[in-house]
Amino acid sequence: MSNLDQHPAEAVCGGPLAAAAEPVRELLPAREVVLGGPRGTLVRRTLPHRDHRMVGAWCFADHYGPEDITDRPGMRVPPHPHTGLQTVSWLVAGDVLHKDSLGNRQLIRPGQLNLMTAGHGIAHSEESPPERPPVLHGVQLWVALPDGDRDVEPHFEHHPDLPILTDSGGGVGTGRGVTVTVLMGEIDGAGSPARTYSPLVAADAELGAGAAGRLPLRPDFEYAVLGLTGSAEVDGVPLDPGPLLYLGTGRSVLDVGAERPSRVLLLGGEPFEERIVMWWNLVGRDHDEIVRAREDWMTGRRFGTVNGYDGEPLPAPAMPTTPLKPRGRRR
Ligand code: MN
Repeated sequence: MSNLDQHPAEAVCGGPLAAAAEPVRELLPAREVVLGGPRGTLVRRTLPHRDHRMVGAWCFADHYGPEDITDRPGMRVPPHPHTGLQTVSWLVAGDVLHKDSLGNRQLIRPGQLNLMTAGHGIAHSEESPPERPPVLHGVQLWVALPDGDRDVEPHFEHHPDLPILTDSGGGVGTGRGVTVTVLMGEIDGAGSPARTYSPLVAADAELGAGAAGRLPLRPDFEYAVLGLTGSAEVDGVPLDPGPLLYLGTGRSVLDVGAERPSRVLLLGGEPFEERIVMWWNLVGRDHDEIVRAREDWMTGRRFGTVNGYDGEPLPAPAMPTTPLKPRGRRR
């Protein structure tokens, strides 16, 4: 997924003020964004949020669907560049075909993880394949890379088998009716094979009817939970698909439950102490770096070519008229 906005706002993220220093419960409303024109996909964007630009190293969160794409184009995201981040693709329903400038071509299905580490620079496209299930539903997340790793060689990972914790077999257990898939990082000793560059976690908790569970957390991490389906209760807060429930730091457990089948996505990580500049699909540290990356994309350098996408690559928007400058995180 891409930020297709032709007038992307600058987002200054991170910094020591980024994390609440205690457990909190803040429901952050999503912004609705249409990707790819009037018949495009409606996404609910919760990160970056004005009050919490990041959660750990998680710096971008789009939730799309469920959408019936039987008579619609579905996902159509033309080739576009990324720097300084990882893209994390996770589906609740449907199929998405990824193609990148390293030559990877990978269909992703629900329960599988696509992880693309942009590092110094990569380009990719994402699209609904011609033959696909009727419903598309998923999330697209970005992880900011720490300074020491943000220039790594780009690479792509597909993880079809992720650790799953249930009440019957995952160490301490997750509780009655709770099944947890660990996308990235580790929960209760179950570690994802996905490569991470800073301490963080992502996990999908599937809650059966009448589920009641308790997820183990790390007090040094900051956390947030996104509702994916149904209607869950997270730390006593009703959570439907849409907003992001920001939970702060200082927690060792998280109570989750649901009266009817529901799914929530847990995101967490060590508070990200670096200030980053996010503009369009690029993450950097200052204005000039973003300008160089944009120039490289527009002149065919650095990012390579995505082969096999039926359409033109996405042009970069014009740079804003004022320089991208670090400023206070909170308004
Ligand atoms: Mn992308």
